[in-house]
This record gives sequence, C-alpha cells and structure tokens, in this order.
Amino acid sequence: MAVKVAQEWLNSCSGCEISIVDMGERLLDVLAQVEFVHSPVLMDHKYFGQLGSGRHLEIPEAVVGLVSGGVRNEEHLEVLTEMRKKCQVLIALGTCATHGGIPALANSYRNDEILERYYSTETTDKCEEVPSEGLPPLQDSCTALDEKVKVDIYLPGCPPNPDHVFSALVSLLEGRPVQLPEKSVCDFCPTVREGKGGVKKLRRFLQAPQYGAPGEPLDKMRCLLEQGILCMGAVTRAGCGGDAKTPRCIAARVPCRGCTGPVRKNGNQRFDMLNALASNGVDISSLPESVSLLRFSGAHGLLRPSRKGKEA
Ligand code: SF4
Ligand code: SF4
Ligand code: SF4
Repeated sequence: MAVKVAQEWLNSCSGCEISIVDMGERLLDVLAQVEFVHSPVLMDHKYFGQLGSGRHLEIPEAVVGLVSGGVRNEEHLEVLTEMRKKCQVLIALGTCATHGGIPALANSYRNDEILERYYSTETTDKCEEVPSEGLPPLQDSCTALDEKVKVDIYLPGCPPNPDHVFSALVSLLEGRPVQLPEKSVCDFCPTVREGKGGVKKLRRFLQAPQYGAPGEPLDKMRCLLEQGILCMGAVTRAGCGGDAKTPRCIAARVPCRGCTGPVRKNGNQRFDMLNALASNGVDISSLPESVSLLRFSGAHGLLRPSRKGKEA
C-alpha cells in the first residue's frame, strides 16, 4: 500500500520544493511508493474544503509530513500545528525550517521597524497605513519549526541537496533511520590547506581569491580562508554536495556562506566562526559586522533586536 505523504510550505521561497523535483528520474521511484494526499505546490487541495465551506483547517492524515519554511505569522503556525497533528513523522525540509534561514535575519529588527521601513521607503508607493485587513498577524520573530512543534527529522540546506531528500525518503519507506553527514563542509573540501596561518585580516568581500591556472583542478587551489576570504566551511554542516561530496560553492570556487546551518544541532555559527578566526590569529575587528554569520541560522533566539532596533 502506498505511503501517504503530506507537504506544506510556510515562510518559504519554494526552492526546497524544487529540490524535490530535482530528484529527477528518482522521483518516479518515490512516486511509485507514495501517495501525496496534500501538497499546495503540486495539487489543488483547499484548507477549508474544496468549495471553501469548511469551518476548520483540514489536512488529511499522512505517515510522512514534509514542511519547508519557518514560522513568521499566525497562519504558518496554524498550518504547522495541523501538520504535526496529522503526520506520524514530521520532516523539517530546508534551513528555513530547521534554523529560520534567510528570513530569520529580520529577527535583528522589531516588527514595527520592518513594516515602517518597508511601507514608507521612497522606492515604493507610500502607504497611508500598514495593510492589515485579511492578513495573518505576524509572530514576534521568525522561528524554526522545532520552536513550535516536535520535529522528527532535519534536512537542512538552502535548498537541501536532492540526493539527501531522496535517501531520506527511501530510508523512511524502508523503515531505516535517516542518516545525514555530521561533519563540516571543510571535511569534504578538496582545496589545499597549508595550515601556516599568516592571515591577520580578512580581505574585502569583493576581492577575488587566487583560483589557480585556468582549468586547474580544485585540489590545486589554496583554501579560501587561508587566502583571507571569509569561508564558513568549518562551522557549517556538510552535505550540500550530496553524493558527489564536493561542497557546492567550493566546486564553483566561491566561499561557503553557511547555508546548511551549524555542524552541531544547537551550534551558533556566529560564535563558532568568530572563535575559529580568533584562534587562527585573525583580527576579528577586521570584520565589518558579524550578524551575517547567522544569515541562515538566526532563529532559536540567536538574533534579536537591540534596544536601538538593529542588532549590532
Ligand atoms: S531553505 Fe532556502 S530554498 Fe528552502 S525555503 Fe528557505 S530560502 Fe527557500
Ligand atoms: S575554509 Fe572553505 S575553502 Fe577552506 S577548507 Fe574549509 S570549505 Fe574549503
Ligand atoms: S558550500 Fe556552504 S553555502 Fe555553499 S551550498 Fe554548501 S553549505 Fe551551502
């Protein structure tokens, strides 16, 4: 009998759903064994009955629930709570769901500051007042799923590698535990590390590293961090390379920005990275700011507005 799967997206950009489709032909293998009973991105299944006559939010029961996006407003919370009730196993899909993702950068500001800035900026038509009619009220901050409900499986990544989405679904279908890489991006990076230190100041973001001669393989290129480029591989969970293993950004010769979140489940990429830099002799005051070290993992109370508003 096909395993019932429900899928939902909350504060999501839909990139995580693309990674499901990016399983390619393997998706056909999965679809042969599952039945999607609810998926706003794939099928027309209304929350309040097909004709809108229902009085309560209804999501069908399922064995597996896949949820992308964090929780930003009361509608997200209501949908997530219903998914938790109806699904035996709940999977947080993508870093927005596991750690807040990019939207949680807004946690550096109070809601009134965000709305004021968005609706009064010179670049858009000024509103007389902030729209509210028919809109779900905002929560105080953007949270990860496990700050609101119990999560059974975490599949981080922005978006998660389709190889991991596939192997997680196959493991579940076969009744095996889902296993994800527990090392750091650096552990799978082929670049050359000389370990001599010597970088005292980080280079400016737009300064290009030495890539080596054209066509030279990655294992001839010097580690980007050792070249003074801020690369967060050491404090970021591995896995973005999927079965190929080579981290995706490094394969494109650009630094890791931390998109799979911290190596340890409750890690803090900002403190871990500042520590890593300081212990390698880098003057951390050469960083123009450090909030962006949490650009993918600012939920769980790690980013908060300062008294003045923006976190310094
Ligand atoms: S984790 Fe990335 S791809 Fe997935 S919803 Fe968030 S921003 Fe989009
Ligand atoms: S810091 Fe970046 S370039 Fe250096 S080993 Fe780690 S992932 Fe590779
Ligand atoms: S290298 Fe870093 S930022 Fe790039 S995809 Fe991998 S984890 Fe994400």
